[in-house]
Amino acid sequence: MDMSAKTIIGKEEWCGLPELGLPAIKARIDSGAKTSSLHAFNIHSFEEEGRKYVHFDIHPIQNNRKIIQSCRGLVVDRRDVRSSSGEKERRHVIKTPVKIGEDVWEIEVTLTNRDAMGYRMLLGREAMKGRVLIDPDASFCLGTLEDRDAEKYYSVRPADKSGLKIALLASNPALYSNKRIMEAGEERGHEMRFINIRQSYMNISALSPEVHYRGGELLENIDAVIPRIKPSMTFYGCAVARQFQSIGAFCLNDSTSVTSSRDKLRSLQLLSEHGIPMPTTGFANSPVDTSEIIKMVGGAPLVIKLLEGTQGKGVVLAETNKAAESVINAFKSLQANILVQEFIKEAQGKDIRCFVIDGKVVGSIQREAAAGDFRANLHLGGTASAVKITAEERRIAVQAAKAMGLKVAGVDIIRSKDGPKVLEINSSPGLEGIEDITHKDVAGMMIECIERNLRRRRRAA
Ligand code: ADP
Repeated sequence: MDMSAKTIIGKEEWCGLPELGLPAIKARIDSGAKTSSLHAFNIHSFEEEGRKYVHFDIHPIQNNRKIIQSCRGLVVDRRDVRSSSGEKERRHVIKTPVKIGEDVWEIEVTLTNRDAMGYRMLLGREAMKGRVLIDPDASFCLGTLEDRDAEKYYSVRPADKSGLKIALLASNPALYSNKRIMEAGEERGHEMRFINIRQSYMNISALSPEVHYRGGELLENIDAVIPRIKPSMTFYGCAVARQFQSIGAFCLNDSTSVTSSRDKLRSLQLLSEHGIPMPTTGFANSPVDTSEIIKMVGGAPLVIKLLEGTQGKGVVLAETNKAAESVINAFKSLQANILVQEFIKEAQGKDIRCFVIDGKVVGSIQREAAAGDFRANLHLGGTASAVKITAEERRIAVQAAKAMGLKVAGVDIIRSKDGPKVLEINSSPGLEGIEDITHKDVAGMMIECIERNLRRRRRAA
């Protein structure tokens, strides 16, 4: 074989996908990966004259979400691909010519809505076979291009006139969930605004309630607000959300519902009013009742929870009645509010997080406690994996979110011998675990929920 005739390429190169309208895209060349992939979103398949096509959008330039190219490709397969995190994902496979240097040949590419290692495109060994030689220590053997020069190949799609003005009300723009919500909104043509709760202030008056931001800017004409309020900001964050509601913005989660979801006892009372199953729970304030409460919830082993606790902190397992009594009395002497709950031993340290949007479970994951712990919280070293939930679990999760008045909720369910029981409801559920494991664009579904509700509201008006 004549090796010298082949082009040598490095671990990253600029290439083109001419039939997709992508003249310049920076690709990672990785012979360790079998298949090639393209980072795409808004992926929809359709049929035309008996052939299957897929329509998708892509941000061809890294770290630039303003430039969006819409592409259409011929689908040749659906394939299960295992991502670097080990999860299986079913992807569309399209066939399209690739141009590398002066050579053009057809390759198969899978479409996925996650970045491939920070690159918009990953070229695997199947696509490169027999065509080029790869020097894994080199980069851009066929010439470099600055990102801003590559941008000139594309036009910035004009902002969609039907786009909404959406405010994300939160504290930390660097959080995965917040970044994803901002990009999902922008991808759908909306004007996204990150509003830091702490830096907003309000003018509460009967005639013209207002919300102001940093340096005095008046926040007007906001169509919708996505509250992502951390527990320590509940009081002020909900007040700001409420103010936005009073000036006509649609709030993805109603501020009153967010407030009540933050109170564990209030949440359980609401669930119980709606007949939603939950572990037998007791609550009392005076130390005199300690042994009565223990008896009421069926005796040890039982779980004692601090009402103000989050992420599993302040959740204690007492194996004997004696231990339970000491722990309860200790908490009480610290004036801490607690609840006492039957211990669901058969759950074996597992619980299920159901992500509910607009009355539907859009994804669910199972969380399993680290060895030696009974609490499945990921912050405590628990691990998450894919899980299939039953129709009953689905129904209970949806009912629980509805009972709390939440359009978006993370409903934690535990599997007991008497069926599924709701442990807790989170009004700002994290997106990272659920998107990572289910490969679903959950942030996008939150934006679509806003679009749907505003359409409904406008029709009703
Ligand atoms: P937090 O709000 O701090 O996460 P949770 O009530 O969700 O508190 O409890 C944390 C974890 O402890 C749960 O995810 C679950 O794995 C475990 N757990 C909580 N309550 C019980 C219970 N009654 N029986 C068994 N395990 C429980």
